[in-house]
Amino acid sequence: MQGVCLLGATGSIGRSSLEVLALHPDRYRIHTLTAWQRMDELLALYQRFQPSLLVVADAGQRDALLRAGVRCEVLYGAAGLEAAAVAADSAIVIAAIVGAAGLVPTMAAVRAGKKVLLANKESLVMAGTLFMQAVQSSGARLLPVDSEHNAIFQCLEKPGAGLAEQGIVKLVLTASGGPFRSFSREQLQAVTPAQAVRHPRWSMGPKISVDSASLMNKGLELIEACHLFGARADQVEVVVHPQSIVHSLVQYQDGSLLAQLGRPDMRTPIAHALAWPERLSAGVEPLDLLSMAALEFEAPDESRFPCLSLARQAYAAGGNACAVLNAANEVAVAAFLQNETSFMAIPAIIAEVLQRVPQSPVDQLEDVLLADAQARRCARECLAALQEG
Ligand code: NDP
Ligand code: MG
Repeated sequence: MQGVCLLGATGSIGRSSLEVLALHPDRYRIHTLTAWQRMDELLALYQRFQPSLLVVADAGQRDALLRAGVRCEVLYGAAGLEAAAVAADSAIVIAAIVGAAGLVPTMAAVRAGKKVLLANKESLVMAGTLFMQAVQSSGARLLPVDSEHNAIFQCLEKPGAGLAEQGIVKLVLTASGGPFRSFSREQLQAVTPAQAVRHPRWSMGPKISVDSASLMNKGLELIEACHLFGARADQVEVVVHPQSIVHSLVQYQDGSLLAQLGRPDMRTPIAHALAWPERLSAGVEPLDLLSMAALEFEAPDESRFPCLSLARQAYAAGGNACAVLNAANEVAVAAFLQNETSFMAIPAIIAEVLQRVPQSPVDQLEDVLLADAQARRCARECLAALQEG
């Protein structure tokens, strides 16, 4: 029986994780659930799963939960998240908070040597080198939940060994292309948040849905793949595959191209990461090859979707650049979701912030958090200038 801390229980990955965990009560006990805004959902999850610890945003929410009949321990704020991530009762931490807010608790779990199921790709993008060093020195077991990286992990002969040692020449990340794959530049100018969050294949939270539509999600995933698998950026190819059936591929030097296929359902990679190196049922229907549509593959159009090139540029620059890229993207996406700016302003803001925030090395987590704060300030200035202009 292993204890589980689910950071971000009320989100899309949180819900899929709980569905898988609920199938295996003999193996996993849900020790901790965390939420930020959705208190009604958290209360319902508390009643259903009876965890020992809840973490919420502030003391007011904690008091409201206690008044509503919650009898377990309730912590709050950043300190509460960090305490939950390192608690001795949870051997497994599922990192499913969205955005930079996931960095500190996920790093805490890594430093405490937990088995960490990583959905929060932003933490790896922001602090990849420090993050992977912490995995090495603490002996944490890091398992990718992001479907592409989970697919690559499943196609590795010797997980943990370098690519050259495994005879791997290339990693191929597939991208659905998002809801605007075939839109012209003019059409992209006018798209709305409602259109952007209506993803053709995957049901996800609003931020990653917009990232999928702009291809920034693939840019973040390229950086994620470089850190997770020790790949150079030129060893990671992005291929658009609208059906989202082939989740990613690994090219070996003998000509073999290994792929992992499945339905576009996050319960599969979550179950894989939970049980690895064993296998567990995920509650997912098997893929029926005979009823499947044709599988298509095409090159991404980086001129209509410049976020992918911006991510490559930030990764090549190193230092604080990926943290700056991530923060600028978070500010721009939040503004787009609030109808405060246009979809095409997202790459424009990121490009400007990458130019304006001075480059600097990152030697510790504080340097990453500083870069994040600087980039957010700069992105808000760019946003204000766009709104005035
Ligand atoms: P959601 O928006 O659906 O859920 C986000 C979760 O994080 C919620 O539980 C939310 O709480 C919590 N949260 C939000 N802000 C904060 C904060 N400041 N501090 C602490 N907790 C916070 O996102 P997703 O589930 O879609 O995505 C989660 C992560 O997984 C992201 O990093 C994403 O990139 C990654 N991912 C998601 C996939 C998917 O299919 N959804 C696929 C691959 C990766 P509340 O709702 O209570 O406010
Ligand atoms: Mg993904």
